[in-house]
Amino acid sequence: MNAVLQAARRIVVKVGSSLVTNEGRGVDAEAIDNWCRQLAALASQGREVVMVSSGAIAEGMKRLGWSTRPKELPELQAAAAVGQMGLAQMYEQKLSAHGMGSAQVLLTHADLADRERYLNARSTLLTLLGLKVIPVINENDTVVNDEIKFGDNDTLGALVANLVEADALVILTDQRGLYSADPRKDPSARFIDEAAAGDAALEAMAGGAGSSIGRGGMITKVLAAKRAAGSGASTVIAWGREPDVLLRLAAGESIGTALLAGTAKLAARKQWMADHLQLRGAVRVDDGAVIKLREEGKSLLPIGVLDVEGDFHRGDVIAVRSPAGGEVARGLANYSSAEARLIARKPSSQIEGLLGYASEPELIHRDNLVLT
Ligand code: GLU
Repeated sequence: MNAVLQAARRIVVKVGSSLVTNEGRGVDAEAIDNWCRQLAALASQGREVVMVSSGAIAEGMKRLGWSTRPKELPELQAAAAVGQMGLAQMYEQKLSAHGMGSAQVLLTHADLADRERYLNARSTLLTLLGLKVIPVINENDTVVNDEIKFGDNDTLGALVANLVEADALVILTDQRGLYSADPRKDPSARFIDEAAAGDAALEAMAGGAGSSIGRGGMITKVLAAKRAAGSGASTVIAWGREPDVLLRLAAGESIGTALLAGTAKLAARKQWMADHLQLRGAVRVDDGAVIKLREEGKSLLPIGVLDVEGDFHRGDVIAVRSPAGGEVARGLANYSSAEARLIARKPSSQIEGLLGYASEPELIHRDNLVLT
């Protein structure tokens, strides 16, 4: 039994170019219809799903009449811009045929490394999920080429899993999963049903040590699983043409290779806050807010804020202190220190009037907050 997907409420599914475009023959309507049908069924089970799809370059090459992949990055990027039109159109059409709304989101690795953009992307994606719309994500190939050089969106899939704090990442590929060695060359190659994500032995099995890192080979999938595990998401690598692969995984069937995250989501988030972020400021909150945070697991609203210290931007990590000054929590601020000073002690309904716009009703959302 592989319970990774069965237990998962929020799932990121990544499909690679060769599957999406039927080995470069052009956007594969039937295959996309098949995954969209399954995504809609998962949504009807109350799960939230995000699709990360590559295939823009492969489709663009077909539309431009190119039979061999160009070497120059600008040409590849141009092909991606051409092909993304067809890709988005196909997902829109197929998801809508299965009763689902869709949204195109183009992201870069740098977007997710920048705290403000990270927060913006996260808020947008979570809002889309709340609206029961399926985000269809690709790399923004016009402005960057990380996934073009290597990865074919495997890394992006993991970054998105981190971003939305998914429970599971499913990487659909043209192989059945991970083997201990290349089964075409080594008859003793063993299929790996399950392993710990981040196990160094996996990288060697996937051809890491010494071998060249191919675009979207097994090594990038193994590394993606390690990265996804950083925020508590387990990964399944499976064959994308396996009939009803997503539905069967969600029903608990063991298909493909499961790479399990060792850390629970909350612990992973705490670790991330502790490891990567420096405090840029603090807010002192009233006793009511302390109770809401500590005992009720609620977000921090501006109305509970007594005063604001330091100079911080949206997306910076700030401390939350009790009236006596002890640290209660820390988290990502939705508003800058200047804005926080204007909206402190005010109900969230007044944010728009005070600032001229309203980003979120919370100063720190509970999902971006850890008690300390
Ligand atoms: N983001 C690219 C795409 O969707 C990556 C795949 C590739 O390099 O071919 O086409």
